[in-house]
Amino acid sequence: MAKVLVFTETAGDNVKGVSLEILGKLSGQTIDVAVIGDLGDAGKTALASHGAENIHVIKGDNLDQYSPEGYSRALKDVISAGSYDYVIGGSTSIGKDLFPRLSGMFDAGMASEVTNFLFEGDEFHGTRPLFAGKCYAKVKITGPKPHFVTVRPNALGMPESPSAGAGNVADASASVGDLKAVIKEVIKGASEKVDLTEANVIVSGGRAMKNAENFAILDELAEVIGATVGASRAAVDSGYAPHSMQVGQTGKTVSPSLYIACGISGAIQHLAGMRTSKVIVAINTDPDAPIFTKADYGIVGDLFQIVPLLKEEFKALLG
Ligand SMILES: Cc1cc2nc3c(=O)[nH]c(=O)nc-3n(C[C@H](O)[C@H](O)[C@H](O)COP(=O)(O)OP(=O)(O)OC[C@H]3O[C@@H](n4cnc5c(N)ncnc54)[C@H](O)[C@@H]3O)c2cc1C
Repeated sequence: MAKVLVFTETAGDNVKGVSLEILGKLSGQTIDVAVIGDLGDAGKTALASHGAENIHVIKGDNLDQYSPEGYSRALKDVISAGSYDYVIGGSTSIGKDLFPRLSGMFDAGMASEVTNFLFEGDEFHGTRPLFAGKCYAKVKITGPKPHFVTVRPNALGMPESPSAGAGNVADASASVGDLKAVIKEVIKGASEKVDLTEANVIVSGGRAMKNAENFAILDELAEVIGATVGASRAAVDSGYAPHSMQVGQTGKTVSPSLYIACGISGAIQHLAGMRTSKVIVAINTDPDAPIFTKADYGIVGDLFQIVPLLKEEFKALLG
């Protein structure tokens, strides 16, 4: 049995879904959780019901905003004191930044962007995509512990019947000292409701959108089905959408339950960012567009006709 610390980010009063996905997969291990800042009652309940034994709530100066230096210093003491075998977190924007620094701090091994894992005894066996998602590698980490792991959001799925833990909350104070770089403010992209990397449903537009104004039809569909809007690099490079919306090799990697690609050809660099989506729907006028080879459902047609029709259909279906 491994002793695992799960680093959890908060989302309002609750915790981010990827943390609960990870906890669900850790059933049978000894699980503690670390969170930096305030943790609401909903978050505490969710963590306990998904198996957390001890929840370390870390507070201190210079921890109001995320900074890699501050957060890694704040977590260092909790990780050292707990003698953990593994420290696991979501491969979110923060996780991608924080975990390599932590593993460097401990001079320990790390597996990033894991899409599945299991434990044999106390040994971690993970799966992660390689070569832009064209194949998967089985990974295990060697060398001194703790070992560090980040898990791609939405890849594991929510556990159906998680085992509960004690959920003991322990407040910890951290003194991180002066930071060399401080994040003053985080400005969210205007169109982003949920961060793309964590969104469960995504509607993306490509070069065929023709201009920024036309993205309004994707926003309207997204509003009805509770989706986040993304874009291809061609749409971003053409100035139709900001880079924060770009999906792909040089944009964000997403793994939603549903990905609707509108007027996107399906270049390898775009597929690299969304091919682990559970269900892919493609709308394209070209029946030979490569995206159709990866799509579960394909609609050959003009997105400017299809998207509004889909919106009306979903509106009627979902009330
Ligand atoms: C190093 C590198 C990194 C890259 N990183 C990324 C990345 O992160 N993300 C990314 O997306 N790309 C990336 N690219 C670019 C990638 O190669 C493609 O150029 C890009 O994905 C194409 O975007 P697109 O599908 O929107 O445009 P296009 O390839 O031009 O496709 C537009 C599609 O729209 C269809 N269409 C046209 N009109 C309509 C209509 N009215 N209704 C429906 N369909 C219509 C066309 O049939 C066509 O299939 C990268 C490239 C390189 C070299």
